[in-house]
Amino acid sequence: MNNVTIIGSGCAGLTAAIYAARADLKPLVLEGHEPGGQLSLTTHVENFPGFPDGIMGPELIENMRKQAMRFGADFKAGTVTDVDLTKRPFKITAGKEVYETQALIVAAGASARLLCLKGERELIGRGVSTCATCDGYFFRTKPIAVVGGGDSAMEEANFLSRYASKVYLIHRRNEFRASKIMIDRAKKNPKVEFITPAVVETIHAPEGLVTGVTIANPETNAKREIVLDGVFVAIGHDPNTTVFKGKLNTDENGYLLSTHGSLTEIPGVFIAGDVQDHRYRQAVTAAGSGCMAALDAEKFLEEHSHS
Ligand code: NAP
Repeated sequence: MNNVTIIGSGCAGLTAAIYAARADLKPLVLEGHEPGGQLSLTTHVENFPGFPDGIMGPELIENMRKQAMRFGADFKAGTVTDVDLTKRPFKITAGKEVYETQALIVAAGASARLLCLKGERELIGRGVSTCATCDGYFFRTKPIAVVGGGDSAMEEANFLSRYASKVYLIHRRNEFRASKIMIDRAKKNPKVEFITPAVVETIHAPEGLVTGVTIANPETNAKREIVLDGVFVAIGHDPNTTVFKGKLNTDENGYLLSTHGSLTEIPGVFIAGDVQDHRYRQAVTAAGSGCMAALDAEKFLEEHSHS
């Protein structure tokens, strides 16, 4: 029986683990299918407070993990396959293991969608990015592309135009999912060139750094090569909430909904990080919400220690 089980080992889960461990709750962290979360897929992190020279994403995560372990957090590999939240103790199944827990913090994160092109995942941090806020600065005076036709793509194209010499907005259809105001703003931006309909077929990186893309018009199959240094994939995120479907409230996109702060409609179940946040999605906001969830879980356990 565990006091607190934390699902997820990204910034939110690890911060929750540090706080819960320092409260002597001996939290169990189930690491999930992407241990370390999205930070483990980035390179330099320059906006996490406290690191004036920046820090590598995987190193930041490793530091948080060590910090949680130092205070007694326990880590188990494995992906959660089922949860029973109908009564306490809650039951968490990860493969063949079943864990019982008095309180649960869900910090399972969200995964950025990728285009599923050859080499794309390996090129993250080497010219491919899923986070304009994190990586835009590295592309000062360089030509880049943003792929997608939603609000994120429009927002990122505008944001990135502050740094990049040129932003190609590549979208597979002539119609956009983005709101009109966001499209108009991007279209008015002199640095942004819309290329539609166009599908990225290949990302070129002959020496391990992105040098360009080949795109194709899906209607005519006409191909074009573009020389650029960065490809920002902005085709949406998927919250890792499949196992909570029908068990916790979600919005229409599957993100978990809190009733207040980190609290959910089930007493003893708390949520933190990108699994409940499609707006800010920053390491520091995820860490902050992980802290909130651990403090809420601690308070809950204090109040329910005899029930
Ligand atoms: P989204 O609205 O789901 O748009 C995803 C875009 O990516 C779509 O244009 C889609 O094309 C394209 N796409 C999906 N899979 C693709 C693939 N495999 N290859 C090529 N293109 C692909 O996602 P989002 O832009 O991240 O927005 C998510 C939510 O956050 C939305 O509700 C949005 O309004 C909101 N948001 C709001 C703001 C704001 O108001 N400031 C900023 C960002 C996000 P198709 O259209 O052809 O399917």
